[in-house]
Amino acid sequence: MIVGLTGGIGCGKSTVARFFAELGITVVDADQVARDVVSPGTDALKSIKQHFGSQVIKEDQSLNRPQLRQLIFDNHDDKTWLENLLHPIIRKQMLTELDESKSIYSILEAPLLFENHLEAYCAKTVLVDVPVDLQIQRATQRDNADASTIQTIVDAQLPRSAKLEKADYVIDNSGDYNNAKMQVMRLDQILRLLAATEDFT
Ligand code: ADP
Repeated sequence: MIVGLTGGIGCGKSTVARFFAELGITVVDADQVARDVVSPGTDALKSIKQHFGSQVIKEDQSLNRPQLRQLIFDNHDDKTWLENLLHPIIRKQMLTELDESKSIYSILEAPLLFENHLEAYCAKTVLVDVPVDLQIQRATQRDNADASTIQTIVDAQLPRSAKLEKADYVIDNSGDYNNAKMQVMRLDQILRLLAATEDFT
């Protein structure tokens, strides 16, 4: 059983994912998979180098992400080309890792779960939720960024209200870490029962 875990930037996804992992649940992080599939030596990185040239490869042979981001920001066709290349590879890798999971259910952690329609793979979805002002405060502190930069990212994501409507379960992360952990422990019990019944579709 795959459980989607999402939430806007700074809402506490990674924190909550860690709590699930501490309970023995496999967590597949979509962002990490997206980085892994373009690591040095991969076919995807070779294709990217062929398409964009060596300007997108750093000296250590890893992908120069800011450079690539800049190039596709300026060119819609290149952005589409890159998405067409990477999305199927990322999806396949994510599903392989979830398939290999040995835990009774597995978490797919993805900031853009709903935006990228990954909920299609999930029996249930969990939203980590905080009010927007707290979200911006925590993300600003974590990333050492200014509030307007974070606000731009928040604005590009699905609004909080839409995510609240779509999610099956909500973890309210406006309290302290311990409070969030308690909610994860409660939800874990529910999800274990659901997975055990094998009637989660
Ligand atoms: P996300 O993965 O959704 O972007 P993080 O889990 O990285 O969010 O959390 C954002 C920041 O807020 C981190 O610095 C994290 O340590 C902090 N944080 C998360 N949950 C809490 C909480 N309940 N109380 C205080 N700080 C928190």
